[in-house]
Amino acid sequence: MNLPIPTSLLSNHLSIYVHIPWCVHKCPYCDFNSHSLKNKSINEFEEIYTQAVIDQVSNSEIRKNKIIPSIFFGGGTPSLFSPNSIEKILLSISDKYTLEKDCEITLEANPGTIDQSYFKGYKKVGINRVSLGIQSFNDIHLKSLERIHDSNQALSAALQAREIFDNINLDLMYALPNQTMSELDKDVNQALSIEPEHISYYHLTIEPNTMFHKFPPNQPSDDVSADMGDLIAHKLENFNYQHYETSAYAKPNKECKHNLNYWKFGDYLGIGAGAHSKITSNNEQQYRFMCFMNPSQYMNGVKDNNFFIETKKINDNEVAFEFMMNALRLNQGFTKRLFEEKTKLNMEKIRNELSDAKDKKFIIETDDMIKPTQLGRNFLNELLQIFMRDD
Ligand code: SF4
Repeated sequence: MNLPIPTSLLSNHLSIYVHIPWCVHKCPYCDFNSHSLKNKSINEFEEIYTQAVIDQVSNSEIRKNKIIPSIFFGGGTPSLFSPNSIEKILLSISDKYTLEKDCEITLEANPGTIDQSYFKGYKKVGINRVSLGIQSFNDIHLKSLERIHDSNQALSAALQAREIFDNINLDLMYALPNQTMSELDKDVNQALSIEPEHISYYHLTIEPNTMFHKFPPNQPSDDVSADMGDLIAHKLENFNYQHYETSAYAKPNKECKHNLNYWKFGDYLGIGAGAHSKITSNNEQQYRFMCFMNPSQYMNGVKDNNFFIETKKINDNEVAFEFMMNALRLNQGFTKRLFEEKTKLNMEKIRNELSDAKDKKFIIETDDMIKPTQLGRNFLNELLQIFMRDD
């Protein structure tokens, strides 16, 4: 049974995620809620979807006095939408809520769907951070990932973004099919030459329900992949990037505010097809909500004010695990105070699990902090399993 969404939230801060669910082509490794346009044009959907998103924002029952520290347009491919549509969505959000003075407003862009006029347009309507899905600067690897851009487009998009925005992220991947260490080294050097404020470097993982799961590519061995991870960390740290989360590197004070809110278990509102929300009600209960994943179902649902496919109260056992799943990704770990503030649980409630993780040398505990060790970071899944309870 769906629960009513609480209207009164404990925290005054709420990040907003807006999902744009279409892509020109579905990449074989992608398990996001993205739908290939096939031979259709985005014009068929852009206006009506923009209106649905605006309607969801305006009809949201969450009260108006929220302060928004970050907004993130993710996908799919948000850069398929024109600056004009992005502006309309941003206006609907700022009509309803108060944007923090330094509100971080990110838009994910695909180098195959972007040009200088779009970058300039996005900046004009309020986007102040661009995250570019580069993945690699190597044509052979881009082809094996079935990306719609080539290395020239990757470089040109990155240089244009660099010229126009003060804050950019490059998304890259390693352990790619048949990738060698020297090819990775070249990719890292090329990324560094752009001088982005932030780099997200993901290990290519094969997820269920993807084409790569059906037809697995030939990836480097686990040992080589681990060496690749070390090479990335070593090089980026030498260039003054702080490795602050499993896959994220940032120049000082340039961590992604929006993602930090997820990792620190803050509240967020998800707008659009398949978008998730997590909110803490005034009576300190945590709830999760998810919109219909299928774009047409979502758009029809918004018309009837019935667009949540799932609403769920998170119980005490789940909340500790969910907190750990996010916060243990942070290399500096988290304070015990944050755990107690966000989960409303006493740290002693998970004393047995903490002892187990310490015995395995996965974490270090001080008077006020919990921090994953290098071993814990290398075996994050094993570490998290300790906090997973069936009862
Ligand atoms: S462009 Fe991104 S969201 Fe779209 S299919 Fe490829 S990986 Fe998925």
